[in-house]
Amino acid sequence: MSLSPSPGESEPNGGRSERRSLLGLPRPELERAVAPLVDRTFRARQIYDALYRRGVSRFADMTDLSLELRGALEDRFEVAPPRAVLRERSADGSSKALLELADGATIEAVAIPDGRRMTLCLSSQAGCGLACRFCVTGFWGAGRNLDSGEIVGQALALREGVKPPFEGLNLVFMGMGEPLQNLDEVARSLEIFSEFISWRRITVSTAGVIPGIERMASWERRPNLAVSLHAPDDERRGRLMPINRTYPLDDLLAALKAYPLERGRKVTIEYLLVRDFNDAPGDADLLVERLAGLDCKVNLIPVNPDPVLGARMVPPDPRVSESFRARLKQRGCLATLRRRRGDDVSAACGQLRAPGRPPRGFRHSRWLAGVERG
Ligand code: SAH
Repeated sequence: MSLSPSPGESEPNGGRSERRSLLGLPRPELERAVAPLVDRTFRARQIYDALYRRGVSRFADMTDLSLELRGALEDRFEVAPPRAVLRERSADGSSKALLELADGATIEAVAIPDGRRMTLCLSSQAGCGLACRFCVTGFWGAGRNLDSGEIVGQALALREGVKPPFEGLNLVFMGMGEPLQNLDEVARSLEIFSEFISWRRITVSTAGVIPGIERMASWERRPNLAVSLHAPDDERRGRLMPINRTYPLDDLLAALKAYPLERGRKVTIEYLLVRDFNDAPGDADLLVERLAGLDCKVNLIPVNPDPVLGARMVPPDPRVSESFRARLKQRGCLATLRRRRGDDVSAACGQLRAPGRPPRGFRHSRWLAGVERG
């Protein structure tokens, strides 16, 4: 693991200026914003392509625009992607960035090489209020919603080594926050991303916010949907994820079954494997029963331990994880076991940002007592 500020990151952030940010405006909004300055409507398209197709963030470098227009844009607008304050690179090539926003809030974004492609893992909130017991972001508590500029800006900030910026990318909203609790801004960012990246290559991951799933189900074009399930019954899921008390499993699974899927697509079920908690052969059987009738694939993720999560949040022995996967498969359930990647870059949610603010005051001892009983 190496910690190194990347080139060009020494300038001060400067805070929010009076100029309006162009980043994150979907094309019709950008067209309206620059309309008073341009002679032809296609100029807006040129600016849009410079920002997102070519990754140009300085108006001065938009050389297909006249000098005069570049100057006028500079006077009124800015393009300020979040600034990387820390980058960690792991041996497998994953690179995680801690990004600072204009108001000083920090978020994480990760670039994960994926064969010849690149997957970017983006945050939707600067924190998370859901308090999932296995999640370091949840441990530190809620933070504000990101706006669409801060969401697309993460992709631009990660673009080092990712050229051209957006084509050839997979996007997953599996960074900090709950995307379906910030669906308006996530939707605006998707409007932009989907002009450059196929919907099939974009995945939104939710802890199970049913109204958000229903809203997305009504869209004309939809990203793939991933759901953090993590336990085969309400009792254990409720202990891991307080949101299960609001949206219990039966209701959640019904909403997933109603989510329209494109041909060949499946809902991804994420299932965290926690040693001696949800990794027994009987749990695999229960999970298969629960998922009956849902067109899905299961992604098994051995939990990534962290000091703030307590001593019981440990992954099963690799052989146990593998036999859990094999048992799902025997019972006709598509399942993959996530290779452990990026462990050396603190790649689980919130682990890079963790220090620097007081925790919400988790009562691990109480939760663990529950585990002992269970
Ligand atoms: N709120 C959304 C997206 C953020 S979490 C959701 O719940 O899906 C993204 C994924 O990271 C989730 O599947 C979550 O379970 C996983 N994750 C969080 N903490 C983890 C840890 N300690 N080890 C492994 N995966 C973790």
